[in-house]
Amino acid sequence: MAVVKADAYGHGLALCAPAAVSAGAQWLAVATMPEALQARAIASGSSEEARILAIGGVLPGWGAEAIGSRITPSVWTLEQLDELEIAARAAGLRSGAFPVHLEIDTGMSRQGVGLDSNRDELARILARFKESSPLYVEAVMTHLYASDESDGERSARQFERLEEALGMVRSVPECAARLEYLSAGASAALMGADAEAVAALAQKFELRPMFRLGLALYGIAPCSACSADSEAPKAQLPGRLAPVLAWKTRVVSLREISAGTEIGYNGTFVATEPMRLALISAGYADGLDRRLGNRFGLLVRGERAPIVGRVSMDVAVLDVTEIAGVETGDEVVILGTQDGESISAWELAEASETVPWEVLTGIGARVPRMNVQLKSSA
Ligand SMILES: *Cc1c(COP(=O)(O)O)cnc(C)c1O
Repeated sequence: MAVVKADAYGHGLALCAPAAVSAGAQWLAVATMPEALQARAIASGSSEEARILAIGGVLPGWGAEAIGSRITPSVWTLEQLDELEIAARAAGLRSGAFPVHLEIDTGMSRQGVGLDSNRDELARILARFKESSPLYVEAVMTHLYASDESDGERSARQFERLEEALGMVRSVPECAARLEYLSAGASAALMGADAEAVAALAQKFELRPMFRLGLALYGIAPCSACSADSEAPKAQLPGRLAPVLAWKTRVVSLREISAGTEIGYNGTFVATEPMRLALISAGYADGLDRRLGNRFGLLVRGERAPIVGRVSMDVAVLDVTEIAGVETGDEVVILGTQDGESISAWELAEASETVPWEVLTGIGARVPRMNVQLKSSA
C-alpha cells in the first residue's frame, strides 16, 4: 500500500499517485475523505483502478462520499459503523457489499478499538457484522509505533494484542470468512525485524500481510541511524533507497554590507566584517523552518552558504562571502544534491528540531512540484 496522504508527503499527489499505480501499487492510503476524493479523481484517470484507504476515520457526513466514490475507510467505533451502514443502505447496497478495515489499538492510544480496559468493545463492534450488515471486514489493521527500536519490546507487546484481536475476529464466522489482509506496520516495520513477525502472524491466520509504506516510498530511510551513509545500517533496504525529491530555489539579489550591519528581523545577526549576502526566494511560508536562521547552510555553487539572521515569511538571507561568483538567478538547494554536496532530509530535519516527515509535508503549497527526469549520468 502506497501512502500518499498529505499531498504525497509534500511531493505532489497528482505526480505521485499515478506513478505509484503504474509501478504496481494496488492500494493508495490517504488520511481524510477530502484527500481520498482527490486521490480517486486522479487515480481513476489511469487504466488500473487502485483501491483507496482513508486511514483517518469516518466523520459524520462522510459515509455517502465513501460509498459513492468506493473509498475504503478504516473504522474503530460504533458511530463510524452507524454512519457507513446508514449511507450504504441509502445507496441500496446488499449485505456484505462494502469493505472496511478494522483498526485495533495495540498500544498507541490514538485510533483503533482499544483492548486494554474492556474487551467488550471489540466484541460489540464485531457483533455488528453478524446481522446482514452492508459492511464486511476486509482487513484487520494496526499501527506499529516503535518498529525503529532495537529491543523490539513495544512491538512484541503490540503483536500479542494483535493476535488476541485476530482470535476474536476469527471467532465470528461472518468476519472470518471475508477477512483477507493483516495490515500492520509502516516503513520502519517493513525495513526492520517487525517485517518477519507481521508475515508470520499473517500466515498463522491465513491472511495476506500488508505494509503501508510512506517515507521509504519517497526514498528516505525511516530512522536517522539507518540512512544510507550510516556505518551500521539497522535495516535491510536503505542502501537501495534514493530520495525522490529535491527542493530548490534561486538567488533573487545580492548586496555587500559593511561591519556592524544588522541582518533580518530584530537584527539577530550583526556583521563583524564586510560581507556579501544573497537573498533567496524561500521563507517559512515555503516550509523553510524559522529555526534554521543563524544555524544552517544551504547549497550555492556546491558550497554551504550559512543562513544569516531570521528566516522571513517569503525570503531568507545567505552569507556568500566565501563563495566566488554567485549571481542573481543561481540555483540554491535546500534539500538534495548540488555539485557533489548534499543536504539530506534527516539533516534538515535535525537542524529544524523535527523529523523528515514534517520537513517534507511542510513544503509550502506555493512551491511548484515538478517531475524532473533525472539524467542517466546523474
Ligand atoms: C502515515 C502512516 C503510515 C506510513 O508511515 P511511514 O512511516 O511514512 O512509512 C502507515 N500507517 C499509518 C496508519 C499512517 O498513518
